[in-house]
Amino acid sequence: MRLTVIGSSPAWPNPGSAHSGYLVEGPEKLLLDCGPGVLGRLRETELWPSVDAIAITHFHLDHWGDLVPWVWGSFYLSNNGPVPRPELWVQPGGAAFLTALGERLGFPDMFERAFQLAEYEPNVAFSAGGLSVTPIRVPHYTLQTYAFRVQNSSRVLAYSGDSAPCDELVEAARDADLFVCEATLLRGELDGEPRGHLSLDEALDAFEQSHARRLVLTHRPCELPTPEEYELAHDGLQLEV
Ligand SMILES: [Zn+2]
Repeated sequence: MRLTVIGSSPAWPNPGSAHSGYLVEGPEKLLLDCGPGVLGRLRETELWPSVDAIAITHFHLDHWGDLVPWVWGSFYLSNNGPVPRPELWVQPGGAAFLTALGERLGFPDMFERAFQLAEYEPNVAFSAGGLSVTPIRVPHYTLQTYAFRVQNSSRVLAYSGDSAPCDELVEAARDADLFVCEATLLRGELDGEPRGHLSLDEALDAFEQSHARRLVLTHRPCELPTPEEYELAHDGLQLEV
């Protein structure tokens, strides 16, 4: 399984960086989240992305916003021939959410026309891009949000999405080969209430408790210090899991 970080920014972009997007190849292509800037980055390597499936952790804009231009691009390109219609995995209620948004942004079935829409269930593994993905509900302010545990027959990649400190996140990353974990905050005390994000120390704590083998920090504002001994994601980073 290979991971390419397409975008690694927090909820506002680091300079020149895209928002959340993580491409997992193994051997099909699964995109975890699709924030603003991700589609343009994917188009740097192929004119239109050939991803087989997309899975969205939650509906904060920085994790899904480029699905909108993805719709318009796929409609435009369909004038010239068939355009891939990837699976789009969203949380329970997500299809209705996208239909309601479509009514305001274009037309009600705009997302269904561009994607094969499917809803995952909490803690129930689904197959996407040739991989098994288990969505695990994590606390993130008051918004329904999931971490993903992505597996093939021998390797495990855990992706935090956005999460407050919690046992569920630790379990999502349990013994993973690679844990891609957000570290949005300078200090946990600076978070809202209820909590929604992790500080660097809280991300390290979740990693240690999980006994995952490797940690890559992400979703971190460039203004915050990150000691050199820790791996920090950047757009374009490629890792074998
Ligand atoms: Zn979020």
